[in-house]
Amino acid sequence: MTTRAVTVPECSATATSDADLARAIAAIPGDAWVYSADELVGNTWCCDLVAGHRQDHVVHVQTVEFASNDPDEYWMQWTNGGKAQLVKKPVCEAAFNPHTHDETYCLLPEEHEGPHTDGGQHWV
Ligand SMILES: [Zn+2]
Ligand SMILES: [Zn+2]
Repeated sequence: MTTRAVTVPECSATATSDADLARAIAAIPGDAWVYSADELVGNTWCCDLVAGHRQDHVVHVQTVEFASNDPDEYWMQWTNGGKAQLVKKPVCEAAFNPHTHDETYCLLPEEHEGPHTDGGQHWV
C-alpha cells in the first residue's frame, strides 16, 4: 500500500493534563512509561485530529509497556469546554514511509477520523 504526505489544517483545541489525570496514569500497572505522572501535570496538549473533526479531541499521552504483553496506549480525550479524560484504546499503527528510512507509525486511536499522524506529519 502506498502512502503520501498531506498538509492539513490541524485542530487548534488544547487541554491541560492536571493532577487528576496524572493520578490516573500513576495508577496504571506496568513497567515503563513515556512520561512520569509528575511530568504530565500542567502540560498543555494540542489535539492531533484535523480542523473541523467531529470526534472528541484526542492526543496520545502515554505508552505503558509490559514484559509479556503488548503495550497499552493511553490518550487524553476531551470535548469543547469539558474536562480531559484518560482513555485506553488500541493505537491505529498505520505506517508511513516517506521514501526514506524514517518509517513512522500513526499515533491516533484505531478508527480515528481524518489522515494518519505521528504528531508531526500527516499522511493518507
Ligand atoms: Zn480536536
Ligand atoms: Zn491512523
